[in-house]
Amino acid sequence: MKSTAIITGITGQDGSYLAEFLLRRGYEVHGIVRHTSTESYGRIEHLRHQVVLHKADLLDTGSIQSVVENVRPTEFYNLAAMSFVPVSWEQPILTSEVTGLGVLRALEAIRVVNPRIRFYQASSSEMYGEVVETPQSETTRFYPRSPYAVAKVFAHYMTVNYRESYNMFACSGILFNHESPRRGTDFVTRKITHAVARIKMGLQNELRLGNLDSMRDWGFAGDYVRAMWMMLQQESPRDYVIGTGDTTRIRDFVQMAFDYAGLDPQDHVVIDPRFYRPAEVNLLRANPDKAKRELGWEPEVDLRGLVAMMMEHDLELARIEKLTVGRAYERKAAAA
Ligand code: NDP
Ligand code: GDP
Repeated sequence: MKSTAIITGITGQDGSYLAEFLLRRGYEVHGIVRHTSTESYGRIEHLRHQVVLHKADLLDTGSIQSVVENVRPTEFYNLAAMSFVPVSWEQPILTSEVTGLGVLRALEAIRVVNPRIRFYQASSSEMYGEVVETPQSETTRFYPRSPYAVAKVFAHYMTVNYRESYNMFACSGILFNHESPRRGTDFVTRKITHAVARIKMGLQNELRLGNLDSMRDWGFAGDYVRAMWMMLQQESPRDYVIGTGDTTRIRDFVQMAFDYAGLDPQDHVVIDPRFYRPAEVNLLRANPDKAKRELGWEPEVDLRGLVAMMMEHDLELARIEKLTVGRAYERKAAAA
């Protein structure tokens, strides 16, 4: 029987990589997209004819349930969320509705339609927050430090609870930060590579950042979606930490990106208190031993490779932007 998957959040960074991954494995891929006044399917534009898109929203149980009823998938990957930590202080209720309760709505839809559908929840290392031990493993106690992280803890335990209450194949990947050229430009890695590339091309001069002293365990999103799939292929459902096991200061990522472009951060980086958070997560470092042992998962791209991949992509974007701006200027000048 052909495997069929539903992906919520297919228009996001991970959704787009996961869709590519599942298509390569012969899956029929369905994506849930929410209604917006202007379509923004940029990350999956190249897949539009290979996936089936359904309009539904994690805020609306009925809409999720009818997609599950119509598609009758074998696997359901819940990647949708309000995923940007700073916005979770500005919109804590929306964040809790989407990132927390939204997961319960998806679990309920599956329980009602067919509890044998395998369910993946995108849990987050942000749940460890003010860490009580380092590195963090599946048994480390959670200490969430933002409304986003609190909502993820709720969703995480709901997933555990549906597994234990209804015997559902429901599991969570506790994923540490993972990045790519498709990462949103608000997140610190992409904000940095995007800005450094534009500085290199003379399109901007300054990069304004917040706390450079926190540390993150960064990997490549393409490696991490493979782990999601592996979790759903096991004999029994379990939760897994996915990360590299290394941690790096934001300041050092900044240096790596500027070095790549042959520039000096001291000439361009400005510390801006607007980017400090009400409560910070200072240190994240994964202990991915269980995933390595039981899933056979290993990351293939290291941090240096990730920086190079993101810088090459953003340098190319900046080149195109420069050419486009130049041509528009010439047209305007010629028309004057
Ligand atoms: P993105 O922010 O790139 O994608 C989020 C997706 O959720 C988008 O497709 C967005 O749609 C969709 N979405 C938002 N609100 C709703 C809603 N109400 N109903 C339906 N869909 C909605 O996140 P990532 O791809 O980076 O992350 C995927 C998941 O993994 C998220 O749950 C995130 O919290 C979690 N995670 C991510 C980590 C990372 O480092 N990337 C680390 C740990 C966990 P739209 O395009 O319309 O905005
Ligand atoms: P997060 O770990 O999910 O919150 O991922 P982010 O990429 O948003 O942030 C990672 C770390 O970078 C946090 O400790 C932030 O405080 C720090 N940081 C420093 N400056 C910035 C900035 O300008 N933007 C963002 N997003 N984060 C910043």
